[in-house]
Amino acid sequence: MRIMLLGAPGSGKGTQGEMLAAHYGIPRLSTGDVLRAAVRDGAPLGKQVQAVMAAGELVDDALVVGVVQERLDEADTANGFILDGFPRNVAQARALDRLLAQTRRLPIDLALHLDVPIREVVHRLLNRGTEQGRADDHEDAIRRRLDVYMAETHPLLQYFDARGMLVTLNGSGTVTAIFGTLAHAIDEHCSRSGV
Ligand code: AMP
Repeated sequence: MRIMLLGAPGSGKGTQGEMLAAHYGIPRLSTGDVLRAAVRDGAPLGKQVQAVMAAGELVDDALVVGVVQERLDEADTANGFILDGFPRNVAQARALDRLLAQTRRLPIDLALHLDVPIREVVHRLLNRGTEQGRADDHEDAIRRRLDVYMAETHPLLQYFDARGMLVTLNGSGTVTAIFGTLAHAIDEHCSRSGV
């Protein structure tokens, strides 16, 4: 089962992605986590992306696609995976199609969109900034990330809807309730398509 999680920053992709990965026994690939680890480790990739990330901008497509390619080349993604934070724009979505073909993976089954009102995501991100001290969870970067989301990533909803892959779910509520809704959507899709 190959799933992607879509939604604004702070919509719960990371939390739900981890829970779904544990539940279905497939790896979660978060490009944000990989990039943050590279920054933390002082890796060359981290040095390239640190300022861009802190400003809330998108990292260069080629770099991110490289990260995804490396991960999809690993054997544990053969039975499925959960993409969290990738693709972030239409060019990345197209690159993903090419990558899946190259790595002999089947196409993505479902694009799950966690729909959360903007006011609520701002509130969540400001809280996370206080609790976890993420470099991009302060007011200026949050505003920029949301603008970038609306301009670059939001159009992907229509892109995947046109391909019959999109399921939009209410991303407000308790973590457990949202997880239940997501798992139900996945199970329903799998039983319909015989996965
Ligand atoms: P996230 O943890 O998904 O919110 O990502 C944090 C930051 O990492 C983003 O604001 C971007 O700077 C960068 N990033 C993560 N995924 C991507 C992507 N697919 N394309 C470009 N930049 C990304």
